Amino acid sequence: MSSVLSEVADGFPLYTETLDLLPYGRDCSVVPPGRAGLAAQPASAEDVIALLARARRERLPVYVRGGGTMYAGGANPAAGGLVIDVSRMNRVLELDLERGVVVVEPGIRFADLLARLAGHGQTVGIVPSTGPAATVGGALAAHALGTGSARHQSMGDCVAGLEVILADGTRLRTGSAACSDAGFFQRYCLGPDLTGLFIGADGVFGVVTAIALWLHPLPATRETCVLGFLDAAAASAFVVAAQASELTRNLWYAACYEGGSIRARVAAARPEVDAASLPGFCIGLDLGGDADEVARDRARLAALAARHGGTDFPLFDEIYFRTLRYDENYWYTYAGYFSRSRCAILMTSLPSARLADFCAAVDAQRRRFPEFVWASAAVLCRRGLHGGVLAFYDERTQWDAMRAAIAAAIPDLRAAGCVPYKSGKLFAEEVRATGAYFDVLQRLKAALDPEGRMAPGNLGLGEGGL
Ligand SMILES: Cc1cc2nc3c(=O)[nH]c(=O)nc-3n(C[C@H](O)[C@H](O)[C@H](O)COP(=O)(O)OP(=O)(O)OC[C@H]3O[C@@H](n4cnc5c(N)ncnc54)[C@H](O)[C@@H]3O)c2cc1C
Repeated sequence: MSSVLSEVADGFPLYTETLDLLPYGRDCSVVPPGRAGLAAQPASAEDVIALLARARRERLPVYVRGGGTMYAGGANPAAGGLVIDVSRMNRVLELDLERGVVVVEPGIRFADLLARLAGHGQTVGIVPSTGPAATVGGALAAHALGTGSARHQSMGDCVAGLEVILADGTRLRTGSAACSDAGFFQRYCLGPDLTGLFIGADGVFGVVTAIALWLHPLPATRETCVLGFLDAAAASAFVVAAQASELTRNLWYAACYEGGSIRARVAAARPEVDAASLPGFCIGLDLGGDADEVARDRARLAALAARHGGTDFPLFDEIYFRTLRYDENYWYTYAGYFSRSRCAILMTSLPSARLADFCAAVDAQRRRFPEFVWASAAVLCRRGLHGGVLAFYDERTQWDAMRAAIAAAIPDLRAAGCVPYKSGKLFAEEVRATGAYFDVLQRLKAALDPEGRMAPGNLGLGEGGL
């Protein structure tokens, strides 16, 4: 059956038919789907302003959707209403190579942006592994991490300024661009950092319509290597020392692999290798920069690893890590998982010294819920780690059990020193339990969106959650 375009209002598509609204019910999470009453695909900030005026007239809740790849239910229209799908707002508005800034509309996908920038020898600071599908606006509103985290930490650290449309239609520009005669975005300028209010905000304060990102030159040289350790505790000590010495500045990506993953991947690729000879834990490093800097940092990282019992583990680089990074199939390995089963993801933030506790917490979930396949992904940041817990399940038969398992895993992760990262509706209760922080969020919400129109349920503001 072909898609039915219900209406074209003010020049942009508006969907009201059940069939057309189906894709707008949910993202990639275990958070219950919602039912949108209508969905629109605006092409400009002016269209967004018109849509928000309509939402006010008709008293509709409003949710914003980018690529819909988030694993915390942020785009799920828990209270129904209007979904603003920004996928048609996908232009590069400005590329200023002299200032090192690119200004984009929120619906541009990372793969498209990177392809545009590569022609100029440039890239952006953070790229999530969902690059072909995820939008820059979604990544901003969901605290993206991944490639670039070892150098820059998180998406929010790479933003020079924003344009946002608030619930009442106010068009706000942040940083230097707040000054009406400013022709450029610079993050810090007048008073406090209002840009930060919209980063990781899951659309609760407004619709982001333009994002200025700092540019970075593509590295002249790239090189991968893998360091093997006895266990997570030894690897953790190495990571702490590497971050303290700022040896992550030429790392484009670095990720940790548990013993189980190592054994499984080696057994698949090289069945003749004795599993007992393999390290209990390893870290894959993707270095990039000038050749001499890369060579120097690689040698320093190897020497630091040796102090913690670490050694080169070229086999894992050869059979897995190098291919993952150079073929950029890291974008697709996750998509591959999805074609076979669904994956629930809990993303956390933790001090590097707690890596072993994080791994033990994931192990505890494995023992507690053996019906699911559990995996972990700890990504190095400039400081600290992002620890992701992945649980694969059969969506048709295990949806409720998976939701219960995810809810049960949260306290264990907390006890292991991990805090929720990315909020949406998945961590609504955890946001509500933050005391003064949640109190201030509520006050900001009351000031900027007194009718509670924007994304009810996200960040624990309004109804809806796991
Ligand atoms: C298998 C898998 C792997 C993943 N790997 C990573 C990873 O490596 N790193 C990572 O960071 N994430 C990862 N994610 C999560 C997800 O891909 C990212 O969070 C991504 O950045 C979300 O982008 P999106 O365009 O799909 O956003 P959406 O899911 O559409 O939206 C995310 C949130 O942002 C809000 N939003 C979207 N656009 C706007 C806007 N213009 N204005 C205001 N609010 C807006 C939405 O309402 C929602 O709350 C992964 C997800 C999956 C399923």
